[in-house]
Amino acid sequence: MSEATRIVIVGGGPGGYVAGIRAAQRGAQVTVVEKDLVGGTCLNRGCVPTKAILGSVEAIHKARAGEEFGFKVGGDIEPDFARIMERKNEISKKLRDGIQGLFKRSKVELLVGQGRIVSADRVEVETTDGVKSLAADKIIIATGSEPAELPFFDFSQPTVLDSTAALEMEQVPKSLLIIGAGVIGCEFASIFSELGTDITMVEMMPQMLPLEDKRLAKQFQSIFRKKGINVMLKSKVESVADYGDNSITVDLEGGDQVTAEKMLVSIGRRPNTQDIGLEDVGVEMDQRGYIKVNDRLETSVEGIYAIGDVNGGILLAHVASAEGLVAVENCLGGNEERDLSVVPSCIYTMPEIASVGLTESQAREEGFKPVTGTFRLGASGKAMAIGEDVGYIQIVADEKTDKILGANMMGPHVTDLIHEIAVAVRKGLTVKDVGDTIHAHPTIGEAVMEACHDVHGESVHVAS
Ligand SMILES: Cc1cc2nc3c(=O)[nH]c(=O)nc-3n(C[C@H](O)[C@H](O)[C@H](O)COP(=O)(O)OP(=O)(O)OC[C@H]3O[C@@H](n4cnc5c(N)ncnc54)[C@H](O)[C@@H]3O)c2cc1C
Repeated sequence: MSEATRIVIVGGGPGGYVAGIRAAQRGAQVTVVEKDLVGGTCLNRGCVPTKAILGSVEAIHKARAGEEFGFKVGGDIEPDFARIMERKNEISKKLRDGIQGLFKRSKVELLVGQGRIVSADRVEVETTDGVKSLAADKIIIATGSEPAELPFFDFSQPTVLDSTAALEMEQVPKSLLIIGAGVIGCEFASIFSELGTDITMVEMMPQMLPLEDKRLAKQFQSIFRKKGINVMLKSKVESVADYGDNSITVDLEGGDQVTAEKMLVSIGRRPNTQDIGLEDVGVEMDQRGYIKVNDRLETSVEGIYAIGDVNGGILLAHVASAEGLVAVENCLGGNEERDLSVVPSCIYTMPEIASVGLTESQAREEGFKPVTGTFRLGASGKAMAIGEDVGYIQIVADEKTDKILGANMMGPHVTDLIHEIAVAVRKGLTVKDVGDTIHAHPTIGEAVMEACHDVHGESVHVAS
């Protein structure tokens, strides 16, 4: 019998732990090295904690609308922030325990410690019991990323937060200045505005959520404005005027000042590539410090792969996991390429936003003659029934072939609905294919069918 391939994975986030389990399923002998908590950023400082808090906030929002829905609760609805944070921690822990259980069942060894690659076939791990040396036939680097810091902010000040620190706050701040109106900034704004925080967002770009469709971002901005969130576009913080004990004041370019109890800096991420031995073994990085990989996710050193945030592709948990599966196949002799052509992008705000494929303007830039169809959720019975009828579904298609090129959506559960269109784009389905598929009534999902009908000017429920 041939010996099992020994795979050492450095980092136990959604890239590393998924790769570990799959490799073990394929018969490899696997060690996942994790210096902190399994589940990585996603489960402990990112996707899951933010959505757990959002779950509480959505419940509060619904309870506040009790009279409209036909029930009364005694007194005001008061958020219990300590319980909200405790619930968030409980959910993360339950999921971490779940991963450890999966590791045990699939015989993945978890080694807690700081990993360092010393050669193409050896990883050293600094553990509480001293340094352990692991022999490896293949190595997968999955060390992820950290919040990026702006040099002129002093992050040791209690008033200056990154996303990790914001998830550990003990009290709801009265006011919050958010630098950056990208996905993470908007998710925090949605959460804290519902909890009563006075929010100002400062964004350099001319639109918030710069990667989303222009029209969608504009509508979303007006929803934020209605909630009382002050969104300052084309604005830049120049310097900090004052780090007070309980407040911070910043100077904006142009002379304005903003003061808030706390400031959250959400301007992007930087890769965890320091002190893991990359320079010593010759793993190349790009100018921003991300590890360079080919389409098979192999680095410049044969036998060493890099997946997830650390390779700077698309910084999302589902991409890290998908890349983990590709890297494992290649570690075991396969020849798979990552395919990032269809990646759903979801923003967990109130309302939610989701998109996939091309926007109308991107489709035009790529040489298509795009046609669109839209269905507004104000006309959806289900959206009205659940009291969330703000938003719309827009389908983008190619006029010539009728193929669906993409979609952008805003409204309840669109982060679940987007996958129908992801499959359609990936498989080259036409507007007619999806539009002819019977969708259940009443659902938010039938808005996708209606939007497809609208591409052909035939939506029964849209007055043209
Ligand atoms: C606030 C926030 C919200 C987010 N929400 C979403 C979302 O809703 N959906 C989504 O798809 N993405 C979301 N993301 C992004 C998502 O968390 C990341 O894309 C994802 O976690 C990347 O996975 P990864 O495995 O590449 O790295 P990570 O999750 O960062 O995991 C890397 C792991 O490696 C470990 N490590 C690092 N160096 C070493 C070393 N030398 N030795 C041993 N271990 C090491 C780290 O401790 C960490 O556990 C969010 C991010 C943030 C910050």
